[in-house]
Amino acid sequence: MSDEPTEVYPDIHVGHNEPWAVGVPAILNSMEPALMEMGVARTAKLSLAINQKDGFDCMSCAWPDPGHRNTLEFCENGMKAVTWEATPITVPRSFWDENSLAALLDRDEYWLGQQGRLTEPVYKPAGSDHYEPVSWERAFEIVAERLNALKSPDEAAFYTSGRTANETAFLYQLFVRAFGTNNLPDCSNMCHESTGTAMGETLGIGKSTIAYDDFEKADLVIVMGQNPGTNHPRMLAALEDCKRAGGRVIAVNPLPEAGLIRYKNPQKVRGIIGRGTAIADMFLQIRSGGDMALLQATSKRVLEAEAAAPGTVLDHDFLAEHTSGFEEFTAHITDLDHAAVLAATGLTSVEIEAFAQEYLKADKVIITWAMGLTQQKKAVATIKEIVNLLLLRGNIGKPGAGASPIRGHSNVQGDRTMGIWEKMPERFMDAMDAEFGFPVPRGHGYDALQTVEGLQRGDVKVFIAMGGNFVGAISDTAAAEAAMRGASLTVQVSTKLNRSHVVTGDEALILPTLGRTEIDVQAAGPQFVSVEDSVCAVHASHGAVKPVGDDLLSEVAIVARMAKATLGDRYGIEWDAFERDYDTIRERIARVVPGFADFNTVIRKKGGFILPNGPRDARRFDTKTGKAMITVNELEHLERPAGRLILQTMRSHDQFNTTIYSLNDRYRGITKGRDVIFVNPDDLYELGLADGQRVDIFSEWKDEPDRVLRNYRVVSYPTAKGCAAAYYPEANVLVPLASASEESNTPASKAVIVRLEPVAGGGRRDTSPLPWGL
Ligand code: SF4
Repeated sequence: MSDEPTEVYPDIHVGHNEPWAVGVPAILNSMEPALMEMGVARTAKLSLAINQKDGFDCMSCAWPDPGHRNTLEFCENGMKAVTWEATPITVPRSFWDENSLAALLDRDEYWLGQQGRLTEPVYKPAGSDHYEPVSWERAFEIVAERLNALKSPDEAAFYTSGRTANETAFLYQLFVRAFGTNNLPDCSNMCHESTGTAMGETLGIGKSTIAYDDFEKADLVIVMGQNPGTNHPRMLAALEDCKRAGGRVIAVNPLPEAGLIRYKNPQKVRGIIGRGTAIADMFLQIRSGGDMALLQATSKRVLEAEAAAPGTVLDHDFLAEHTSGFEEFTAHITDLDHAAVLAATGLTSVEIEAFAQEYLKADKVIITWAMGLTQQKKAVATIKEIVNLLLLRGNIGKPGAGASPIRGHSNVQGDRTMGIWEKMPERFMDAMDAEFGFPVPRGHGYDALQTVEGLQRGDVKVFIAMGGNFVGAISDTAAAEAAMRGASLTVQVSTKLNRSHVVTGDEALILPTLGRTEIDVQAAGPQFVSVEDSVCAVHASHGAVKPVGDDLLSEVAIVARMAKATLGDRYGIEWDAFERDYDTIRERIARVVPGFADFNTVIRKKGGFILPNGPRDARRFDTKTGKAMITVNELEHLERPAGRLILQTMRSHDQFNTTIYSLNDRYRGITKGRDVIFVNPDDLYELGLADGQRVDIFSEWKDEPDRVLRNYRVVSYPTAKGCAAAYYPEANVLVPLASASEESNTPASKAVIVRLEPVAGGGRRDTSPLPWGL
């Protein structure tokens, strides 16, 4: 049993959940910390540069930029991310003497991040409990010596976080493959791998099939397993565009989320002094993991409508010309068990019928989703059912329609395009062979979970991370940390401290890097990088402010120097030239990666360029049948034993991935604390628990002992009946490594069976007024 100590927040306050999002509070909550921490001049400069043509791309989520840019083109969370990175506060040299690793391990993520920007490389020698400053030269020597001493290149793993820009990512995968391995785990393994797997197989592309302005052209947008108000707030403006153009929005989620109820757009008068825009016309409060059943039931209803009025419902031309598998699907879905659908979804027949009617009466439908779907056990099958439903009525490859996965981290999609994947397709590898003149290794490498398992077995000895917080982000925190401690060397390329810096291998290095906000000057002059957003638009990112430290290196420089130290002149790759002038990297990308022809010219155009997208542009599907594949998926859902709840992990509003900006979650009414579990009041009644009571949360697994998160405060909240929610990453301890989505190996963090046990003397049992504002 894992028995992690739990942070207790004595000042926690639980209020009401909000019935709307953004508006004036968002402006105050983003600008106040920025002004306090960075001052007026720096805040003004950064505000005017974020997401602007000659400015920098927001390093937070992957939401695209609209064509019609405002002077201020960012959201509350974007500004928080900028403040987090561009803070002038730096970690002093004395910090490393004053803080042992043992002491740092007792600090939470929030405290670690608050210490400021890292400005010099530090090294933890074997056997020491302290980092100490080290020169860049020696740091690269250490990396090279340890990598070159390995028996096989496969004994190293090279992680990438989604902040990494295209140029860095391309160079990094070149280094790793020239070193000789495909061990390239990334954060996508932990979030949208299920999307890539499902869409890659059925549509031939693992990315969105829509353009930004498709939202305002859609008759209907279905938002599934997603909380845009917190995780990609400017998406609310796109949903508002849809509504104001006469479209409808349906939210399908276990929790009501403020942004999907009503949006107060801070760029509009109606959002500042008016009531804003109501977003969801319909809210289906689905049981966690019930989405696949809802989608299948809707497809069945579509087929029944066609049977009742032949030739009027399905897009027969599209189905005949562009799809395969329709007959098999029809035969299978006809047998769908309605009772199983009701059990899986927790919805009524009336709600399901109303949802189906909305789909049937809309000509152009977008279905958009995020991790509420991708981190389910049946995530891949669920996303295939989204594709099925869209295909039946030709909702792919026409304006205002399509499949729209929304990625959570700025360039996570671009990193994949650049080759950060443990199993890149043959044609990419062939292009690499041809361009660089060495045989790129072909065997599949480790993904994120396999990397932890490799560390556990002792097969992975060196772990290098290009940003991110690997042990914080992955499931089964305790196992991941124990595994990481078994490494001989861990290396973190980073801007700020996090948990992964203090859970080290025998030796460890922290290599501090420039942030996106900072001006990057190399020998050939000021440089820029590029990123790809959630709708496949690629644009440039130029730093805006002076770096916080004179010794900082760019990520490109770090990769180039690490590669040069490790590989020398192996294969004649000119690492110095790449560092000197990033145009030289883009020239190579242009010759290897499809869609990047003439990269150095098109990236300099206003707004960048859009990558080709077969399904969107030409209804072209690069699948094994050469058509969009309608697939058959067996319905299966998580059974909830009596007295148990289905727990999902989720972010708070003041959080980006594992970065905690504050201890508040404004939209859910939580301040100054994170040790909460949100439970439906009817479930509390049945379980004999009360709002405010302290409980231990036990997760239950078939083949292994229970896991526990202790002393959490129960919050009575309008979650779907039978479902509960707690904050990530703290609740990761409840999810074992083995609990992963089928086919994609993504941690199944939205499908955790838990029981709640009262803590002795753990709080009141009286029932206060239910704290929700719906
Ligand atoms: S929506 Fe996402 S990318 Fe845009 S400003 Fe907000 S956090 Fe940044």
